[in-house]
Amino acid sequence: MLTGKHVVFLGGDARQLEVIKSCTEMGARVSLVGFDNLQSPVSGASLKELSSDVLQTADVLVLPIIGTDEKGQISSVFTSKKLFLTPEVFQSLPKHCLVFAGMAKEYLRKLCQDFGIQLFELLNRDDVAIYNSIPTVEGALMMAIQHTDITIHGSESIVLGMGRCGLSLARVLHAIGARVKVGVRSSEHKARAFEMGIQAFDTSELKDHVKNADLIFNTVPALIIDSAVLANVPHDVVIIDLASKPGGVDYPFAEKRGIKAILAPSLPGIVAPKTAGQILARTITRIMKNELFREGTVQ
Ligand code: NAP
Repeated sequence: MLTGKHVVFLGGDARQLEVIKSCTEMGARVSLVGFDNLQSPVSGASLKELSSDVLQTADVLVLPIIGTDEKGQISSVFTSKKLFLTPEVFQSLPKHCLVFAGMAKEYLRKLCQDFGIQLFELLNRDDVAIYNSIPTVEGALMMAIQHTDITIHGSESIVLGMGRCGLSLARVLHAIGARVKVGVRSSEHKARAFEMGIQAFDTSELKDHVKNADLIFNTVPALIIDSAVLANVPHDVVIIDLASKPGGVDYPFAEKRGIKAILAPSLPGIVAPKTAGQILARTITRIMKNELFREGTVQ
């Protein structure tokens, strides 16, 4: 189904292995750059160095979940070499090449814009974010179990934000018997919480709702658990901050008060890299088929 197409993987972690497997199974020619310490060779894929020669025949370039950093550096758990996606090497990509990353920093967005290359930021897609909320929630439960000496059942658990992760998390906590309260800012989310039988409050009143909390899970990507909130939490509360860096907690203040607040990034890649990889593989291969063969509309 991808026969005749050249897919280049540049860096990544265990999640990429599932995507690589899907591409080889679908008949693509696969080149791996930054995978020289792989424990076992991937059949149907060949190891390459980062060069214009490899990129100039690429139909698809798959980057790590975090794309590049602000200087173009690419991370890979499979090599100790430093990899940089420079404009010089990037410009050799053919114009029809599709670039995939979980998310993109300004550096990568600008590269794609400057050279007229189509960029897909997978974690921005609702479907990927919702599928990803499944391993994220399992990871959040794991963190809660590891860092408390009580059961989640019967605990007062606050979930901040009711987006893709917050909704899944609130539902699972409720189902396992926690006394769940959600902090939201929209009337739609209040209505959804009511429908689920979960108490909701406005995030602007957060500090008035935390005094009996055992666990606080934050999914709001903004400084929401500030010093005023932290001044009102019980000393033994456990805060699990799922929001992307820098998270939503005033960490210096939490540390000063001796409150356990943990920033917990990339949980899908930690607790379920295979499932997380399969989620990405399904989406990437569907987009590839649609875009490279123009068979239909991207879902
Ligand atoms: P999302 O669907 O956009 O949900 C974010 C929620 O935060 C929404 O309910 C939004 O409310 C609320 N919100 C945003 N800014 C707010 C503010 N200033 N005050 C109050 N509420 C605010 O995002 P998501 O997919 O659930 O992801 C949430 C965060 O977790 C992101 O930072 C994401 O990168 C991260 N994440 C982490 C992991 C991990 O492993 N740790 C995994 C997946 C995602 P409205 O709907 O009213 O705007």
